[in-house]
Amino acid sequence: MTETVDKPAAGASDQATLGFQTEVKQLLQLMIHSLYSHREIFLRELISNASDANDKLRFAALNDPQLLESEPDLNIRVELDPEQKTISVVDDGIGMTRDEVVAQLGTIARSGTGEFLSQLTGEQQKDSQLIGQFGVGFYSAFMVADRVDVMTRRAGAAPEEGVHWSSDGQGEFTVATETVEPRGTRVRLHLKSDAEEFADQYRLRALINKYSDHIAFPVLMAQADGEGEPEAVNQGQALWTRPRTDISDEEYVEFYRHVAHDFAEPLTWSHNKVEGKREYTSLLYLPATAPFDLWDRHAARGVKLYVQRVFIMDDAEQFLPLYLRFVRGVVDSNDLSLNVSREILQQDANVMAIRSALTKRVLDMLTKLAKDDAEKYGKFWGAFGNVLKEGLAEDQGNQEKIAGLLRFNSTHSEGQEQDRSLDDYIAGLAEGRDDILYLIGETPQAVRSSPHLEVLGEQGEEVLLLSDRIDAWALQFLPEYKGKKLRDVARGELRVGDQPAAGDTSIEGAEPDKDTKQLLKRIKRALREDVDEVRVSARLKDSPACLVLGEDDLGPGLREMLEASGQTVPESKPTLEINQGHPLIGRLAAREGDQFDELARLLLEQATLADGRQLGDPGAFVRRLNKLLLDLDAPDE
Ligand code: ADP
Ligand code: MG
Repeated sequence: MTETVDKPAAGASDQATLGFQTEVKQLLQLMIHSLYSHREIFLRELISNASDANDKLRFAALNDPQLLESEPDLNIRVELDPEQKTISVVDDGIGMTRDEVVAQLGTIARSGTGEFLSQLTGEQQKDSQLIGQFGVGFYSAFMVADRVDVMTRRAGAAPEEGVHWSSDGQGEFTVATETVEPRGTRVRLHLKSDAEEFADQYRLRALINKYSDHIAFPVLMAQADGEGEPEAVNQGQALWTRPRTDISDEEYVEFYRHVAHDFAEPLTWSHNKVEGKREYTSLLYLPATAPFDLWDRHAARGVKLYVQRVFIMDDAEQFLPLYLRFVRGVVDSNDLSLNVSREILQQDANVMAIRSALTKRVLDMLTKLAKDDAEKYGKFWGAFGNVLKEGLAEDQGNQEKIAGLLRFNSTHSEGQEQDRSLDDYIAGLAEGRDDILYLIGETPQAVRSSPHLEVLGEQGEEVLLLSDRIDAWALQFLPEYKGKKLRDVARGELRVGDQPAAGDTSIEGAEPDKDTKQLLKRIKRALREDVDEVRVSARLKDSPACLVLGEDDLGPGLREMLEASGQTVPESKPTLEINQGHPLIGRLAAREGDQFDELARLLLEQATLADGRQLGDPGAFVRRLNKLLLDLDAPDE
């Protein structure tokens, strides 16, 4: 809240004027920019909220049937007043207390929203897909209304404890305690003059059919002739209980928008009914874009749980592993008890079994998508690939399936596109080659131009190029795939298949000559504090030197991660490999004393930089380099 001004008004007690949270104001602005041509979705959003409210009441009434009062049948009404140009969406649901009204209709609960919104550039603000990253919701009413009134009474509360919220969406709202007879919530929109097209029975009915047909409660409207009881406009049956063949893609998409609170379309979905020992229905969706809080460990995740078609909870995270946290949808079980709690879910054998079946189902859905629609799969990978990688560690039982879903940038792919799979790699392996080679670096550019690829690249070997923060950690858990070993080319001696890399006279293992041996010893002496070994490289063509890790040493990325989390990490030093044929190495060999030591240290420092890593003492490096530059002959005047 930004300000509170109390001003008692006639007919209402405790009326207060409050300011919207900054985030809400930003969202309202953004919505008007990006969704103007979609503003009819306001009705879908209000009906979606009404349905959620009815669901919540039905759930609460399981423990406290009194809450239903004399109105056990829950429905949703859409009322039009063509004279007054108002539309009301009315539910019999859980309602809100005064505090809830102020919190729910004045703020946005998801942390980080403000930051996300303020980072959007002008161009992005016009992009209706972006707003989908955090849903649209109640505030969409202000796209068509210049005043919105909400009259609500929390189930169980007395009529005198009702609340009246009102706002023109310009920055402030009022709340007052007011008598509200019927339980539930009435949202009344006073249409803007340019939105009067919506003050039309037929238009509203068409919108309900288009967007809200799947809502599990009847959505009632007055009959066209104004006579008789209101009639249901939608089917009023929970979508997932209907046979797959009866459900159109459009209905699946609208249902997704309702459960996922997402504006965008999903990439794909999987709808299954399981009968027999366990009976449950699942309808799982793959979103197209990542929510902005995907990496927030406290963000809500998981599916909506129903038991025998009664809504039980949002965000039931026990039904899928953490690495599939992007999946949205519903699970409806016939075996769980209606008063199941989160604590019980954690230990329930039924839940464990459903979880492992759903996990397989999602992995199969992904595998199928990858096979049938590479473009959509690419979108999925771009949005959620790094989350899926966590599965290599988290779910070793499904590791091969998960590994098959990974996509990489590689020396054989175009630009920075991540489009090579491990199966592609294996299919392209030359006769007698048995390893899957990869290289991890700080940035895509740093890996692609790494000295480690010089000889391999010339030989046409494919190397997978990784540069995400999670890669070094995740890849540790995948020592092999389909019988092929995964090998980091920046570790150990360079071998391709059983053969040392060909085409170089200075193959590791081959004895260097006497002079070379002498040089290696001198470099080692100069750098003994920082390197474990100095040897002749089979990796290099254009660069004078590179750093190599031991097979079991921690890589620099992982080391940083562990150190940052406060763990002590065992000391390990890299090996420096030199390119015997490089002219700089020749020059080095010809130096003595301090000059030799300085030059050797520069070699080490540039090898470190070429790996995209930080120098321990960058200032000293710059001084060394400048000294050398000053030694260059001055140009002729
Ligand atoms: P979302 O539905 O994604 O939570 P909304 O902006 O649509 O976001 O709604 C914000 C919140 O306002 C809801 O989570 C709910 O707590 C409350 N709310 C909105 N409409 C109703 C309603 N008809 N009955 C009860 N609570 C409601
Ligand atoms: Mg909503």
